[in-house]
Amino acid sequence: MRTAEKKISGSTIVAGVAGAPVAHSLSPLIHNAWIEAAGLDAVYVAFAPPADGFAGFATGLRGGAIRGLNVTVPFKETALALADRCSDRALAAGAANLLVFEHGGAITADNTDGLGLFAALEQQAPGFDVTAGAVVILGAGGAARGAAAALAAAGAPELRIVNRTHERAEALAAAIGPAARAVELTPAAFEDANLIVNATTLGLGGGSGPEAAFEVARKGAVALDMVYRPLRTEFLERAAKAGLATIDGLAMLIGQAAPSFEAFFGARPPDIDVRALCLATLGETPLGDAA
Ligand code: NAP
Repeated sequence: MRTAEKKISGSTIVAGVAGAPVAHSLSPLIHNAWIEAAGLDAVYVAFAPPADGFAGFATGLRGGAIRGLNVTVPFKETALALADRCSDRALAAGAANLLVFEHGGAITADNTDGLGLFAALEQQAPGFDVTAGAVVILGAGGAARGAAAALAAAGAPELRIVNRTHERAEALAAAIGPAARAVELTPAAFEDANLIVNATTLGLGGGSGPEAAFEVARKGAVALDMVYRPLRTEFLERAAKAGLATIDGLAMLIGQAAPSFEAFFGARPPDIDVRALCLATLGETPLGDAA
């Protein structure tokens, strides 16, 4: 293990990720690889507070006991509510995936999921034009909120939000504005779609992803799955079979980690191949790569 020889001292900066569950997270692998390559005296660890205990956990870190936290399922909305200050994009999303604990005691919140989504699009679907057609977002949780806000801000002309709990889709659409609407899960939801995003937890750990009528999407459409364990999700396999270009959750994960690293340590991540490291850990080849 790369971090086995790491020297932890009294001045080592600590950052981490909090989620429930969190053991599957690749964020420690990514951030510790960057920390090591940058020669920083820092460490990035995973925290698993009880599902109803995140507020107490994060409040106890006020004052800089640790530098900051990435926040994942299911704490993103609570994370935003705890913050004293937040970025416009976290406010627009109504969810935060990044908390920084300032020395003076304040907590600042940001949402870098949208940046991650656009980094993934740029990397795996270069030239994709988000303004060219409708986006279908499956899910209305924290990740869907971050994605919807970023896509609306980037000029997606129409956002169709589909969610198991329809009221949550309606609430998200209302928060985004006139470009967004909550729709039922029918083939019509996917008619001429330019981008179809799985922002549900369906497919996490294997099994079926959400239903989607990929066959009625527009020519050249792209499917993106936020799930990255497994990397070759059933959702992406189905999308590829229907002729869509596919983007995996790992590209987005690395894309959202980079601005978090900068917020924690004040430096851009060094240019090393963290995707290859993650792929080795996952033991998978991405869709489209030769087996
Ligand atoms: P969340 O806030 O807990 O939201 C979960 C979403 O999944 C909700 O829309 C929920 O619908 C839906 N859902 C859960 N179980 C379902 C089921 N059985 N059938 C239909 N819908 C179901 O989680 P989140 O933070 O948004 O994360 C969502 C996913 O994105 C997770 O898999 C997470 O790991 C992934 N993610 C990946 C990245 C990345 O960088 N790759 C970044 C962020 C998130 P209800 O509203 O009806 O409960």
